[in-house]
Amino acid sequence: MTEPIGVAVLGSTGSVGRQALDVVRSEPERFRVVALACGRDEDQLRAQAAEFGVAPDRARLAAGEPQVLRDLAALPEADVVLNAVVGFAGLPATLSALEAGRRLALANKESLIAAGPVVREAREAGGGEIVPVDSEHSALYQALQAGPRERVRRVILTASGGPFRGRAAAELESVGPEDALAHPTWNMGPKITIDSSTLMNKGLEVIEARELFGLDVEQVEVVVHPQSVVHGMVEFTDGATVAQLSMPDMRLPIAYALAAPDRVSTPVGVVDWAAVGQLTFEAPDLGTFRCLGRAYEAARSGGAAPAVLSAANEVAVEAFLAREIGWPAIAEVVEQTLDVVGAPGAGTLDDVLFADQRAREAAREIVKTASA
Ligand code: MG
Repeated sequence: MTEPIGVAVLGSTGSVGRQALDVVRSEPERFRVVALACGRDEDQLRAQAAEFGVAPDRARLAAGEPQVLRDLAALPEADVVLNAVVGFAGLPATLSALEAGRRLALANKESLIAAGPVVREAREAGGGEIVPVDSEHSALYQALQAGPRERVRRVILTASGGPFRGRAAAELESVGPEDALAHPTWNMGPKITIDSSTLMNKGLEVIEARELFGLDVEQVEVVVHPQSVVHGMVEFTDGATVAQLSMPDMRLPIAYALAAPDRVSTPVGVVDWAAVGQLTFEAPDLGTFRCLGRAYEAARSGGAAPAVLSAANEVAVEAFLAREIGWPAIAEVVEQTLDVVGAPGAGTLDDVLFADQRAREAAREIVKTASA
């Protein structure tokens, strides 16, 4: 019997964190929880610590305390650090885990998107590896094993299209958070579910794929696939496309990120091919879902433009959830923030923090004007 894999779960009370603990529950001999952290929900954190036998000093509230996340991410007992913190706040844990040479199971795409070059440096310096938790990137990670990296022509990310697929921009003027939170196929937290409704999530994922796999942004394509059975595809230079298919259940990519290249037996449900019947694909509607095009532009602009994009989006999504702005204003806040802040440098952590700060300030001003 091999030693269990030590897992630090950062963001343990959120959607991905809870599903990760579900994976551990279903294979208790394979995994051992060595640390837990969450933002605010102390009751749930204590209950998790008791269930998984995590000592109080290893089960911490981390709201506004980057050092707590840094310390837990570098624990020697943590073979894998699952970073499921929401938003830019996840950056310290990403850097710390990589600097300490850990495997980083990354659900926090914002840290990679905002701080690409800084994360790359931490990865090289510490020798840590990133295994993506994002379902599309987990699919690419798996499919990429079918051929050498220099033989990859392009990768394709699938998008469910979210709850507003097929709707015209004019129909979306008056939708509220309850409409945008009704995701047709995936069970996720509120930030990412709103991002799915605007296709910003897919835009962020394009940049995430570029950073994870060292691709050119033009090699990353998006196709809408409402059934969410095909999660990602890799096309090689000989014309072969290798895809990963499974039921839309986050526990699969979470478990794979913890155990890869091994696999687990967590019951996530098998695909009933006859019941699925058809798998369909269509081009995304870039006119209605402007955030996707903006993300490509930010990626092309380079520097801290992706950090600005992501920070402005976080501010806009919070304002939308608080009913301060309407759904179409999310894209407007992002666009105007990019216009105001542009693409500052992103070579160092200070550069990234500065760009993030400037973008948030600008976005808040724009929200104020929009909601007045
Ligand atoms: Mg995804």
